[in-house]
Formats: sequence, C-alpha cells, structure tokens
Amino acid sequence: MTKDELRTNIRAQRRALNTNDIYNLSTQIHKYLFSLECIKTAKTVCTFLSAFKEPDTFEIVKRLSAEKKRIAVPVTDIENTVLSLSYISGTNSLIKGAYGIYEPSEIRPVSISHIDALIIPGLAFDRQGNRMGFGKGYYDRLLNDCTCPKIGLCYDFQLFDEIPTEPHDIQMNFIITEKEIITVGEKYAV
Ligand code: ADP
Ligand code: MG
Repeated sequence: MTKDELRTNIRAQRRALNTNDIYNLSTQIHKYLFSLECIKTAKTVCTFLSAFKEPDTFEIVKRLSAEKKRIAVPVTDIENTVLSLSYISGTNSLIKGAYGIYEPSEIRPVSISHIDALIIPGLAFDRQGNRMGFGKGYYDRLLNDCTCPKIGLCYDFQLFDEIPTEPHDIQMNFIITEKEIITVGEKYAV
C-alpha cells in the first residue's frame, strides 16, 4: 500500500469509532502513558489536542494539570505549514483553530527545548518507531530540533510491522496503543 492508500484506509476505520469506543480505548492508552517514567518525571509536557476521533487527550491535560505540570500544545500556522508551541492552563480558553483543532485563545509561546516529553498524533505507526501523519509534514518539521522523548498515541489498528518512510520522517521513542507500549531503542527507560 502507498502512504496515501494507507491514510485513506485508516481514516475510514477511525471514522467508524463511536464515542463509547473512543472512551474505552483512550482509557487504556492513558493508563500506559502515565506509567512511563518520562511522563512521571516531566515538568513540562507537550500534547496534541485530540480531534478527528483520535485517542482522547483532554483527559491527559486534566491529569497533567492536577499533577501541577506545565502543559504546552501545538498551534498550527497553516500558511507556512509549521507548528509552534504555546502553554495552556487547563482546557478553558481554547478556540477552534486551523483544521478545526483546538488551540489556546491567547498564545504564550514556549520553545521546544523546554519540553520534557512530547505526545504526538499520527495516522499510522510501525514497531520501528516510524510515523505517518496527515501528509503535510507538520510534525517532521517541528521534531527536527526535538531532543526529548517522543510518544506516539494510536489505536491498535493503526500500528503496523512496517510502514513506508522517507528520510525526513522523524521517529518516535515510544508508541502507545490500547494493547501495549512499544519502546524503540534503549535511550529512555519505560
Ligand atoms: P506526514 O509526516 O504528515 O505524514 P510526509 O512525511 O509525507 O507527511 O511529508 C509531507 C511533505 O512535507 C513532504 O513533501 C516533505 O517533503 C515535507 N517535509 C517533511 N519534513 C520536512 C522537513 N523537515 N523540512 C521540509 N519539508 C519537510
Ligand atoms: Mg512524515
């Protein structure tokens, strides 16, 4: 399958999920996520804000807030196809931005060098840590200068043994599904 065929196929499977499915699958994913050493020790976590039936991350924001961690989210610059990062305080004061993805109404910029762990969406991942996004390369550009642990979240049906990759694609250190944590390499403890 080509990247685009794979994208179409997975989008259709994700569209078929109902609210209850998403809640149940996300709850399992959250359990694994909060068991990771790099999340436990992080002072600042960056997470995407879920849309398009992605695994829920609003509950993640709530829990990180309760743990008094600083939280950042990506803000989409659609014109230049780049993501920048902004702090948020809880899930209040969010507005729908580009692609209908929530973002803070007031931007408080933060450099990626201040992020201790990054939670990343994707349409498909493989067991080598490769990621396929929506096809615009937003995260590849953002992750170019990222040295912190990168954690991909997806449902089990989005995880493959091998997906097509290109040299600019940035790899994950962890991938979490409702069924397992995949640890890529030995750079970070589980
Ligand atoms: P995605 O990661 O969203 O699935 P792709 O990896 O297919 O998308 O990348 C989409 C486009 O973005 C490609 O044409 C690629 O050339 C461009 N791109 C990806 N990463 C970079 C980068 N680091 N710098 C410049 N362009 C990039
Ligand atoms: Mg890519």
